[in-house]
Amino acid sequence: MPSSLLFKSILFFQAKPHSFPLPHITAMSTKTKTRLRGVVFDMDGTLTVPVIDFASMYKAVLGETEYRRIRQENPSGIDILHHIESWSPDEQRKANEIILDFERRGLERLQIMPGAAELCGFLDSKKIRRGLITRNVKQAVDLYHQRFDIMFSPALSREFRPYKPDPAPLLHICSTWDVQPNEVMMVGDSLKDDVACGKRAGAFTCLLDEKGKYDSADFAKVDLEPDFKVASLAEVQSLLETNFDLMP
Ligand SMILES: [Mg+2]
Repeated sequence: MPSSLLFKSILFFQAKPHSFPLPHITAMSTKTKTRLRGVVFDMDGTLTVPVIDFASMYKAVLGETEYRRIRQENPSGIDILHHIESWSPDEQRKANEIILDFERRGLERLQIMPGAAELCGFLDSKKIRRGLITRNVKQAVDLYHQRFDIMFSPALSREFRPYKPDPAPLLHICSTWDVQPNEVMMVGDSLKDDVACGKRAGAFTCLLDEKGKYDSADFAKVDLEPDFKVASLAEVQSLLETNFDLMP
């Protein structure tokens, strides 16, 4: 097994929420650090302050009863885009209008996540690549780029199919960059989309959990463990410096 893979396995099996940064990893010699060449971010709730009330959106699309039923069947969260794919064209059109309306209202209140600009500045200083994958629309990504003057490339929105949690967008970014998935970290606030996408692609994963939401019993049985967990983007820089060789 290549040392980078071994290192990743150690992280995967021993990493526990709230145990980061890991003492046994920080004690490792720099020789065993894995090279990291790129970081890929989720947008909503990761690079932006969360403003979309997803529970209300799902209720508006599904109705209260159906929402509760599906929520119970999917403890890690509802994949609304996937869910409506099997609906009739007319039902899908109505559902998409509701989703777009929630997203549009989210855009009006768009705010950059604290720590995002600093983290991107740090990555630039190390010449580490920055990509973005969102299930939101391209217009929202364009607005983010414009308003905050921070560019991500490639930046894939939901016009790129299949979208997260499918690993395809992350694998596409890796091949565009000509780097291996295990030289990349996926950072996002969703276990079911971002961590799942990252793990399926074979990348490192970092879950942003600002409110300790994933500590609740609801997620105890979810079989998805991120390699790292942080409560703010400000923690990501030291995590990267401690655990990786940052080499473009
Ligand atoms: Mg998100």
